[in-house]
Amino acid sequence: MKNITVLGSTGSIGVNTLDVIERHPDKYKVTALTANTNVQLFAEQCIRHKPEYAVMVDENAAAELEQQLHNDAPDISIRSGAEALCDVASLDHVDQVMAAIVGAAGLLPTLAAAKTGKRVLLANKEALVMSGKVFMDTVLENNAELLPIDSEHNAIFQCMPSNFADGLENAGVQQILLTASGGPFRTAPLASLASKTPEQAVNHPNWDMGRKISVDSATMMNKGLEVIEACWLFHTTPASIQVVIHPQSVIHSLVKYNDGSVLAQLGNPDMRTPIAYGMSWPERIDAGVESLDLFDVARLEFEQPDEQRFPCLRLAREAMQAGGTSSAILNAANEIAVSEFLEGRIRFTDIATVIERALADVTANNADSIDVILQDDQRARDYSLQAIGELAA
Ligand code: NAD
Ligand code: MG
Repeated sequence: MKNITVLGSTGSIGVNTLDVIERHPDKYKVTALTANTNVQLFAEQCIRHKPEYAVMVDENAAAELEQQLHNDAPDISIRSGAEALCDVASLDHVDQVMAAIVGAAGLLPTLAAAKTGKRVLLANKEALVMSGKVFMDTVLENNAELLPIDSEHNAIFQCMPSNFADGLENAGVQQILLTASGGPFRTAPLASLASKTPEQAVNHPNWDMGRKISVDSATMMNKGLEVIEACWLFHTTPASIQVVIHPQSVIHSLVKYNDGSVLAQLGNPDMRTPIAYGMSWPERIDAGVESLDLFDVARLEFEQPDEQRFPCLRLAREAMQAGGTSSAILNAANEIAVSEFLEGRIRFTDIATVIERALADVTANNADSIDVILQDDQRARDYSLQAIGELAA
């Protein structure tokens, strides 16, 4: 029996994770659940899964939860505050931690899971983008297991040789082909992008995801973050990663070998597949996902990405190349710009402008400690808000 903490259980990944867990009551048990503010859904999850701990970051939400669980689940220990996230990620008897908080807020609890040698199921790509080297070192030093949940990285992991950690070249790998759907604006007229609304941006053609990652898919910053994520996970550089637009989202990524072989992982676009794989690796379990019908799919298409349409892709590569805290600065500026766009305060095309300015004007440092990374994250957030003020003026 594996004990699991689900960080961010009320989100899109969190809900899918609980669905997989529920299919295997003989194999997995929920030890702790965490959420930010959605009391209603969180209370239902607590009653259904009876975790030992329930953390609501927001204090008022935690108080409300306490009232709601009073009769139905009085034994659950309820906590609030960001520190409690780290505590439930590092409990001795927890085996696996699903890191599914969105954005920089997930960094410290995800790191806490790595520090205590857990199997880390990494959905929260922003954590790795911010802290790449520190995070990978922490995993190694503490014998943690890092299983990528992001569908592309999970696919790459499935197609990699077992000795990939010795270096891709030694393992006979020539290139990683990272697929991207191209998002909702892949074929929209370039001149129309400036007036795209938040509702249009979050309306993804193939995946049902949280609002932040949906906007990232529309700008293709999501793919940019994923290039950086892949560099850390698979010990390589942006030069070895080719982004391939594949509008059907059936191939989840590919690995090209030096003997001419190209291995791919295919499946219906449903996050329960990578989640179940991460939880059960090296075995496989039922994920509740229908298997792929190739006759139904019929056709698979591929295109080069267009960096004029998607400047965020270029910015992410540049940040990774620049090194140090540049990726943390990129991520912070993106988080601020996306949230301001979702609030209707900037245009869709301003997102890339804000990030480009932050990368140019916020000085990066060596990214060898979490304190420095968090400082530069904060500096980039302050700068971006100021830059947005100037845009609007
Ligand atoms: P979501 O917005 O649906 O859910 C986010 C979760 O994080 C919620 O449970 C929320 O309560 C919690 N949360 C938000 N802010 C918080 C804070 N400040 N402190 C603590 N908890 C907080 O997001 P999602 O789509 O499930 O994505 C989660 C992560 O997984 C992201 O990093 C995303 O990039 C990654 N991811 C998602 C998908 C997908 O299909 N949704 C695919 C690949 C990767
Ligand atoms: Mg992905």
